[in-house]
Amino acid sequence: MIRGRAEKSFQLLSSYLYMLKLKNPGTIVEIENDSESRFKYLFMEIGSCLAGFRSQMQPVIAVDACFLKGKYFGSLFVATCKDGNNNVYPIAWGVGDSENDASWEWFFTNLRSAIGHEIPDLVFVSDRHKSNSKAVLTVFPNALHVHYIYHIGQNVKGKFKHENVHALFYKAAKAYPESEFHELFNDLERYDPAVSTYLREASFSRWVRAYSDGKRFDIMTTNIAECLNTTLADARKFSIQCLMEYIRNMLQQWFYERRGHASKMARHLTSWAEGQIAKRFALSQYWLSEPIDMYRFNVKDGNSGGIVDLKAKTCTCRVFDFDKLSCGHALAAARSRNIDLYTLSSAYYQTEALLCAYVDPIMPVGSQADWIVPNERASVNLLPPATRRPCGRRKTCRIPSAGEGEEEGKMWSLWSNWPQSPNLLKSNKSG
Ligand SMILES: [Zn+2]
Repeated sequence: MIRGRAEKSFQLLSSYLYMLKLKNPGTIVEIENDSESRFKYLFMEIGSCLAGFRSQMQPVIAVDACFLKGKYFGSLFVATCKDGNNNVYPIAWGVGDSENDASWEWFFTNLRSAIGHEIPDLVFVSDRHKSNSKAVLTVFPNALHVHYIYHIGQNVKGKFKHENVHALFYKAAKAYPESEFHELFNDLERYDPAVSTYLREASFSRWVRAYSDGKRFDIMTTNIAECLNTTLADARKFSIQCLMEYIRNMLQQWFYERRGHASKMARHLTSWAEGQIAKRFALSQYWLSEPIDMYRFNVKDGNSGGIVDLKAKTCTCRVFDFDKLSCGHALAAARSRNIDLYTLSSAYYQTEALLCAYVDPIMPVGSQADWIVPNERASVNLLPPATRRPCGRRKTCRIPSAGEGEEEGKMWSLWSNWPQSPNLLKSNKSG
């Protein structure tokens, strides 16, 4: 009753989005309806998020969807990146009837209009849903498309019950050098040839880091859909306009918190990146760096070692290449030449880039009584979709799929703790 009727919410949507655009310059919104003026799709990208994405953010976009639980069926779509401090950074939202070819293609087409299609090294990460794979290929034919390791891992766990297979799968998927991947994959094959057949069918280039063409996408280990399910657990029951306002409000708070956090970072790199470098630095303290020429070094670490090229920012261990953060070998080489250790890492991890991502606050739309909306927008008669929830009590608990709730599923709790513990929002690199 407080939030109004679901039908009224569709009528209010056009005015609400008008105000959202007005208060947040650069915001992109689209609504599509059918020939009977019934709602079909919605796309929303808030100007500050778009500006943040364009400022200095790795163009690795995870896309996912979750179903809505309101009076009218539907799915909520989201496209997210990661900021330089390893936080999930949503850039665009959408609502459609369900996850199908048409709705994903509509979402991706609008995303392309918003972010542009000429983004170098663009990567999309998704689950193995056929519709979103098809849409990425159609709308962003030049982008690399990979899958969440999490989803494939859950399938492996569900289909193949051998002990150790699940853990071996994760190790293999996350290996940096191809040689290490093949060693682990051979172990997997020995456990059960059927596992390797299944994983080969999923195509190595879609889930193996060592085959990712040097592009870093550890976001593929994050379970975005589950983060969404938890973060928006209550909001998914809301009517459409209330849901959009809930998301806007959530982002307003995230931007405020994270901007404050970033402004307290006094170092060149973000606190997360500094932490990574510090760990690698400690590990490489006694490694021996032997110069080959001006830029290249052979670093002995007591194991297989690494040949570092400080100019090309590569190392044969491949951690430097993928993470765009110095590996221990690069740190040892830089130390031997008195090179500033922090200059070797990508600009994505600079504190300044993090501040740029959150520089523009997200503004509220104000009280509905104060909205001044042109007549042509206010009088838009948008009807709810024809499909609606059947009568009866709604299922409020989600039934997890096989194996969920363990290990990587722990991400759920990280998001559900928000906003009480914003620091917990750091996504978990190991899943
Ligand atoms: Zn290395």
